[in-house]
Amino acid sequence: MLEVTGLHKVYSSGVEAVSDLTFTVAAGELVCLVGPSGCGKTTLLRCVAGLLEATGGTVTLDGRPVSGPPPGMAVVFQEYGRSLFPWMTVRDNVELPLRQKKIRPPRRRTLVDDALAAVGLDGTHAAYPWQLSGGMQQRVAIARAVAYEPSVLLMDEPFAAVDAQTRADLEDLVRALWQRLGVTVLFVTHDIDEAVYLGQRVLMLSSAPTVIQDELAVDLPLERDQSSTRADPRFTALRTRVYEQIQLAKLSGPHHR
Ligand code: ADP
Ligand code: MG
Repeated sequence: MLEVTGLHKVYSSGVEAVSDLTFTVAAGELVCLVGPSGCGKTTLLRCVAGLLEATGGTVTLDGRPVSGPPPGMAVVFQEYGRSLFPWMTVRDNVELPLRQKKIRPPRRRTLVDDALAAVGLDGTHAAYPWQLSGGMQQRVAIARAVAYEPSVLLMDEPFAAVDAQTRADLEDLVRALWQRLGVTVLFVTHDIDEAVYLGQRVLMLSSAPTVIQDELAVDLPLERDQSSTRADPRFTALRTRVYEQIQLAKLSGPHHR
């Protein structure tokens, strides 16, 4: 469904962030991209989302080249504080993309109600983002993406700024929504454990300019649980492999495998 071929990005400053990236994501798959801070994850994601022009290579979604934000794609960013409009209520924030999509009011209402219920935010419709905790604000951002009914959901370190307990809850929320909605998810993180816990497949990125260092199928059961999955010897083995690959990428530099 999503095909990235030979993606290359040099910023006008001369910084080469993405070297040569090729990977595909199948419809309905949950793929995690993991790599060290500054390796080019956000750059890559912004190119995939059509928010940033690549300097080489192609991104296609359902066979169509991505040149601007494609319909059917939603993005959740790391900085929840900046991704919500502070002067709009929670309801209006979630509803905004649906207005832009020209969805009629009764249907909009249903989608907003369902999305806020799905992320456990019933009863906050009339609140303003700044009245909510960080974790709740990130839930609003997720609700907004879900209400949009995307076929592809991109997430860029969405939980990096919330506390550990909230983060665990939000990870489970993402897996639950993915299983329920059948949406294709590309989840970017610098956290190896998070990548292995969430993903069906983990793509490991080298440091900048980034290439895919290795990939790993996560053969853990579909039903995952924060305590038992993370205690599973198979989980430990997988996280160790990812860790070693990323260490190797750091030592050998991005152009060696
Ligand atoms: P990550 O998300 O993995 O932390 P980024 O994609 O944000 O990495 O950054 C990759 C590299 O590109 C870094 O060296 C960063 O300094 C550089 N970079 C990011 N954004 C810009 C920009 N707008 N202009 C110039 N360089 C940038
Ligand atoms: Mg980033």
